[in-house]
Amino acid sequence: MTVETAESAALTPAQARVRAELLDIGGERPTFDRALRDRLLAELDDGVAPLLEGLPAAGAWRRGDKALVVLGKRALDGVHQCERHYFATDGEPFAWTAATARGVVAHKALELGAQHRQPTPPATLVDLAIDRLRDEPWGPSGWLGTATPDEIAQLRSAATDVVTKFADTFPPLPVKWKPRFESRLRLPLADGRVELTGKVDLVLGQATGDQARVLLIDLKTGSPSHSHPADLRFYALLEAVRCGVPPFRVASYYLDSATWHAEDVDEDVLAVTVRRVVDGLATVIDLRARRRPPRESPGPLCRYCPVRPECEPGLAYTEPDVWAEGP
Ligand code: SF4
Repeated sequence: MTVETAESAALTPAQARVRAELLDIGGERPTFDRALRDRLLAELDDGVAPLLEGLPAAGAWRRGDKALVVLGKRALDGVHQCERHYFATDGEPFAWTAATARGVVAHKALELGAQHRQPTPPATLVDLAIDRLRDEPWGPSGWLGTATPDEIAQLRSAATDVVTKFADTFPPLPVKWKPRFESRLRLPLADGRVELTGKVDLVLGQATGDQARVLLIDLKTGSPSHSHPADLRFYALLEAVRCGVPPFRVASYYLDSATWHAEDVDEDVLAVTVRRVVDGLATVIDLRARRRPPRESPGPLCRYCPVRPECEPGLAYTEPDVWAEGP
């Protein structure tokens, strides 16, 4: 049941629901053992160290990488879905388009909006965000410099839709909630030879002593995917080791429907995630070191896979393609 307060009375019904149920303002927050960080780190290092025996120094596999292996949520999910697909697409350059730049621009717009003292129209925030991103040395700045007016218009429209949907379903974020957008997380392992990285769309709150008071949220414009809960658990692990206290909850928030999938974090969740990370690293390292050939795991990914023409399991999975013939 949603309890109406003076603060929630001015909110849209969706905002009030997010505030009461997802953010759980005023709810109980768990505490965690201070030795948790050391235990997690020891399990990760113990799992990773044997994988690196006999391998070259950091940076030998990928130009520009300071670590030997840099693993983020996309690679971790990819290697668990299909090793051969992962290996075939690993290292492909990211292509910026109006569609792929939408999230970065929208998150920058939300970040700027959270710092403004007065409400600013979403389209204005998006324009400010595009101007800021043009000057950054990373991300879509190169593409923004060459994009056509039509592409920029598409980008503005799509990003404004995201910012508007966030504004009318998420409660305003007061400064005391310490909102951070696109917050980077980094966890070096094995003396920096392995690095786990993440970037959380929205972080709220701050741990107090041993008490978990942080909520990590990924903002999604598409439909729920099986990989989203695992992505969030990965972030929870990085935050737990970074701060020494895990987030109390992680969530994927779906803007098109104003719904979410949330999970409260406990030690079991973190233990499962440690095993998934070590398993993923073992596969990545084995494949890059050519210790064994990649395995095929046919699934929905096959339809978009560049190696499907030479992959028997993938062809068997997708043929006959009843959709290819049309109705
Ligand atoms: S076609 Fe399917 S099974 Fe084959 S490599 Fe691609 S994703 Fe894996």
